[in-house]
Amino acid sequence: MDIRITHSQVKKEKYTDESTLGFGRFFTDHMFEVTYTKDKGWHNAEILPYHRLSLDPASSVLHYAQEFFEGMKAYRTDDNQILLFRAKDNCARLNRSAQRICMPEIDIDFNYKAIKTLVDIERDWVPSSEGSSLYLRPTMIANDETLGVKAASNYLYYIICSPSGAYYKDGLSPINIKVEDKYVRAVRGGTGEAKTGGNYAASIKAGDEAVKLGFSQVLWLDGEEMKYVEEVGAMNMMFLIDNKLVTAKLNGSILPGITRDSVLTLARDMGITVEERKIAVEELVDAGKSGRLTEAFGTGTAAVISPVGMLAYKNEQVIINNRKIGELSMNLYNTLTGIQRGRIKDKFGWITVV
Ligand SMILES: *Cc1c(COP(=O)(O)O)cnc(C)c1O
Repeated sequence: MDIRITHSQVKKEKYTDESTLGFGRFFTDHMFEVTYTKDKGWHNAEILPYHRLSLDPASSVLHYAQEFFEGMKAYRTDDNQILLFRAKDNCARLNRSAQRICMPEIDIDFNYKAIKTLVDIERDWVPSSEGSSLYLRPTMIANDETLGVKAASNYLYYIICSPSGAYYKDGLSPINIKVEDKYVRAVRGGTGEAKTGGNYAASIKAGDEAVKLGFSQVLWLDGEEMKYVEEVGAMNMMFLIDNKLVTAKLNGSILPGITRDSVLTLARDMGITVEERKIAVEELVDAGKSGRLTEAFGTGTAAVISPVGMLAYKNEQVIINNRKIGELSMNLYNTLTGIQRGRIKDKFGWITVV
């Protein structure tokens, strides 16, 4: 399928100070769009000026949340090349979300071409300061104009781009998290492993209550026994216990993070033992008390590595590494961001030049 390109006649005014970008607040001049109907399949692929969508109030996505999204970044190197990081893996995961939410898949190579073409057109929008990037948000929505509860026959897939600043303005700093013992994010047989909006809607209340208590995020436990650690906020979660890097096994309720996979790959490459298994929260508390839990961090595209300095479970508080960033966390952060910015040689085939 060819992509028709219509260049925007008016260019948005660019920020002058990259440190004020924040996350997801500004959008570039263009977007990608392609339409699906039952009769024609995917058709009408376009890159066109960024614009508002016009949806019927009955549009199915607005009622039953049949939608999913992706998140990835384009980075600027010191010599002004634009790099994508594992973007094809995002395209593959997008199709797995599509299957779970009963939506049409998109050919991976075509999707990848759309992403690259859009980023190429918007390359001037890729910021350059430390920790910044062009965040890409591919999104698919169901768009039947009827209130019937069923898989829709009409879909829209689009990609928007948002220049985003460093996640940590003042450098990496460990966060306090609350082990959530009331609400759950995902359950067996649910949609936990799909990147779908419904999971986020269902998680907002817990996050909101935790923030009111002074925490940054919640650590989710499994939905059946509320005993095993799953994720932290919208990140995967890792622990260094007895010098082994331990993370929850992908069990259907955990989002298979690309950062998670990258960190596990890097750790193995560094000679660190990696364990993907069930982690009981009691084990963490014990390991914390006996000094065997030496580092903890979340992983995700937005923050890359988010060190955890304290976790609170019921009446217990576990302080990790004196609330300082651990050596492995720092090393993984520097290595991964170094590869993403083209400063460290990529021996894993993760980088493509746009
Ligand atoms: C997106 C996401 C992650 C992180 O995935 P990455 O591919 O590493 O960005 C983890 N958990 C949830 C719930 C997510 O939505």
